[in-house]
Order: sequence, then C-alpha cells, then structure tokens
Amino acid sequence: MKAPPRYVDFHCHLDLYPDLGTAIAEAVKERIFSLAVTTTPKAWPRNHSLTKNTRYVRAALGLHPQLVAERMHELPLWEHYLPETRYVGEVGLDAGPRFFRSFEAQKQVFARILTRCAEAGGKILTVHSVRATRDTLDLIEKHLPPGRGAVVLHWFTGSLSEARRAVELGCYFSVNAQMMRDDRRSNLVRSLPSERLLTETDGPFTEVDGRPSRPTDIRATVATLAQCRKTSTEIMTQTISNNLKRLVETGI
Ligand code: MN
Repeated sequence: MKAPPRYVDFHCHLDLYPDLGTAIAEAVKERIFSLAVTTTPKAWPRNHSLTKNTRYVRAALGLHPQLVAERMHELPLWEHYLPETRYVGEVGLDAGPRFFRSFEAQKQVFARILTRCAEAGGKILTVHSVRATRDTLDLIEKHLPPGRGAVVLHWFTGSLSEARRAVELGCYFSVNAQMMRDDRRSNLVRSLPSERLLTETDGPFTEVDGRPSRPTDIRATVATLAQCRKTSTEIMTQTISNNLKRLVETGI
C-alpha cells in the first residue's frame, strides 16, 4: 500500500529554490505532501510536469495578487490551464502599501478566478489575503458557493471575528511558524477549529534561524503548532493528516 504522507506543507514555492527538482526530491524523500504553488500561469507547465508523477508533491496554478499589476493579461493563460489542475494558487488579494494601486484589478482577477473554479467544481485553492481579509471573504462568499470548491486561507492575518466568518464559509487555514511568533497571533491560531487546520512553510518567504525555510522545516512548524494548541506533536501530526485526507478525498 502506498505510504501516506507524514507531513503537510500546503503552501510552498518550490520553484523559487535554487533547483526545483532537488526541492521536489527532498519533499518526496521526507514524505511531505507539498503543494507547490506558482505565481504566474507561465510557471505552470514546468511545475506540473515535474510534480505530476510524484507521490507527494502537487503543483497549483497561480496568478499572485502582487503580480496582477504587470500580469493581468495572463488571466486567459490561467484559464487555459485550469482544466489540467485540481489545485489553484497562489491567488487572492493584497492591499498592502506596495500593491494597493492594483487593488481594483486584483479584485476583478480574483472574482474571475473564483467564478471559473466554481464553474469547474472540485478545485482546492490556496488563498493570499494580506490586509484584505474582508474583501477576500466577500468575494469567496459571492463567487464560490459551498460545494463548488474548497478554500485554504494561507498565512491568515485577519481578526478573530474574521476567522470565525471564514470558518462559517468552510475555509481551512494553513498555518506557518511566523503566525505563532507573538501572543496575539498565537491566540488567533488557538481559536481555529482543529478540523480546519493544515500546515505550510511558505518557503522560501519565511525564515528559520535567519535562513529561508525549507520543506523539511515543516516538522518544526507542527511541533510549534502542537505547543500553541497545548497538545502533543503526535496528535497534531495525525490531525493535520486527517484534515488533508478529508480535503483531498472529499473536497470539503
Ligand atoms: Mn506564498
């Protein structure tokens, strides 16, 4: 029988490491279910072809909100590749100061992405929502009805009440180590229902000991999450793999 994954890294940029093939091989060797997100649909063919026959790594088709200003014209290419994938991301909204100018365009792009996913059905999305939690949830509520797809909020930074709203909308949360660096954040992570938790590194954008994180750092993330939620690492590891199994097998 095929060995189930030991760990889950539901949001990592494997193609931003020095060598994509090596990063994939490392995740496979360590049995880490890794969702290799992309930031532009142009990156899809290579990520897809290198991951599709692996046991534990899957690629996601993305159009990153921080790139919408320059790459909005790639939306038709994103639509073209959509039938090839079950996983979508990185997509979403970013209202941070550097990207606020493109916010209206980002909303249009994200609305279209959600609509296409709802039409297709069965997609699983990893969603960025920096400084835009409310708008992100509004668009999900409007364009991706329950049962037409599943959303995993990556590096969620909203409030406790926004987290509750996301839970009501059926969202999962992929938690990284930087989300548990202070009390306020840890408090939010503690408030999430355990059946909606996944883990991520967001490598190489997060840091571990002053260096970019690697897929294998997910072990430490699970340990930190267990500590944060006052349970054992074994129970947390099992919870995360149960959640992944349910999400992948049932799409809800
Ligand atoms: Mn990311």
